[in-house]
Amino acid sequence: MSTRTAEILADVDIVQIIGEYLTLEQRGDNYWAICPFHPDKNPSLSVSPKLGIFHCFGGGCQVGGNAAKFISLFEGLSYGHALAIIARKVGKGHLAPEVVEEAKDIFEINEIVGNLYSQVLFSNSELSKRAREFLRDRHITQETARLFGLGYSPNSWTWLTNRGLNRELLLKSRLIKSTEAGHFRDFFKNRIIFPIYHQKKLVGFTGRTLGTAKKIPKYLNSGESDWYKKREVIYGWHINGNNIRRSKQVVIVEGQFDLLQLHQREITNSIAISGSHFGVKQAAFMKQNVREAIIFCDGDSAGAQIGIKLGSRLLEQGIQVQILFIDGKDPDDVARHRHRFNWADLQGRLVSPVKFAFEQDGLEAGLTVASTHKNKIKLGYALRELSELSGYEERHLEHWLAEYKKSPMGSGPIKPQDTHLQLKEELLLLAAFKQESIPVSKYLRSKLRIDGVNLKVAKTAGFIPELAEESKFATRLHLLAQVTDIEKYTNDLKAHLTLEYLGKDVKRLKRKLKESGNITYLKQLEDTVKRINKIKLRLKTGRDYQSHG
Ligand SMILES: [Zn+2]
Repeated sequence: MSTRTAEILADVDIVQIIGEYLTLEQRGDNYWAICPFHPDKNPSLSVSPKLGIFHCFGGGCQVGGNAAKFISLFEGLSYGHALAIIARKVGKGHLAPEVVEEAKDIFEINEIVGNLYSQVLFSNSELSKRAREFLRDRHITQETARLFGLGYSPNSWTWLTNRGLNRELLLKSRLIKSTEAGHFRDFFKNRIIFPIYHQKKLVGFTGRTLGTAKKIPKYLNSGESDWYKKREVIYGWHINGNNIRRSKQVVIVEGQFDLLQLHQREITNSIAISGSHFGVKQAAFMKQNVREAIIFCDGDSAGAQIGIKLGSRLLEQGIQVQILFIDGKDPDDVARHRHRFNWADLQGRLVSPVKFAFEQDGLEAGLTVASTHKNKIKLGYALRELSELSGYEERHLEHWLAEYKKSPMGSGPIKPQDTHLQLKEELLLLAAFKQESIPVSKYLRSKLRIDGVNLKVAKTAGFIPELAEESKFATRLHLLAQVTDIEKYTNDLKAHLTLEYLGKDVKRLKRKLKESGNITYLKQLEDTVKRINKIKLRLKTGRDYQSHG
């Protein structure tokens, strides 16, 4: 954590700052306003002066953060820029981060480099022969490769570095990096290059390696920056956007090759997004442009999970969603051979996200997806479908859903993706919230230290708003403020955390036992299982389970 940021945020009156933009109404400890980040009718944006953070509870919006985050979102500025504005507002201009309007130069250098990479790919040079062969084997045509501006970064650490371009700009745009020894190295090496556009600007690249070494990542993206955010970019929109707007329908895939392949099969209303980074802004953008979405998942379990997650996100926005999942095959595989590809036939395999989640992960997963419907009629349909699939009566499902919504945070399946925290993150937030160090057992302390969580939160003013730069933390902090029995919750959390780590210990010991057959591991294993059962029993009977091992 940067103390400078905490220092800037320490004396910030978030009510005053947001009050300059929105009409705030006080209710209890917090202030409420009509949210400017989603179509809001009732005030659903809450501002907590005590914590110095804001959060929107409105339909799937989930926007939240500190005062700087608010200004950055409202004014469309970088976070650093917004922080600088606040620093000056509160008379701490000397702490303000330097804001350089560098992005325009970045887009220009990206265009230049993108063109260089393209030239290499489309030349007859030996340098890029393998790249052309690779694309040929993947059945990507010249026409498609040119349309999407594909390129190739040669197999050298210094190819781009030595092109005579402005190195400072190359560094800023993350196209080269500097080594500890003070040398420069290309960021993309021996990779097929996909340029990534956002709002008509070339903001970054994805590179698919041609190398076979296991150690290097198959896909490499430009580093996150103020102008390139995985949670905001939509690959393929610059080519297919008009078709999508016109048809009001979008086909969503995960990878660049999937998209290119579909495009070649005349599915020209497709886009690719990084499923694990799908964000609120992308969902809201989709809402503005489409009525229907088909999620064409990768054909493995990771692909299925991403399909469920994306499906929920889009349902929240009121978009009609269907899922296409072909076990063992990615869209790229399905569409690679023209004569084997039949889009009309594939329409017969579309299923609703609720059904898909139920089939993949069972009833609870199905209920979770159903609960994302904001529209009561659609929710009714979803529950009926789930009732037919599971054999449970609709009224039972309705009852469970209502119970889940009332269940305490962290339990139950209703968890907006953005607010999903790991237990140790939760503990960190709790420590920050309580503004005191939380006593944990020796066992837990040793585990947490490994994971780098420092529970002894110094009483630095501004620490909570600083944590709240991340929207998910802002959400959680808002919820923590509503927990009545914070002591019990703390103990619950510690117990669950202990169980999580003990579970990992059991796995580790089992593996060791298998490898060695050693009797000491067996003893350790038995002891650990006993401890697990003890904690579980205590959790069940509600006794105080704070262990001091
Ligand atoms: Zn909102």
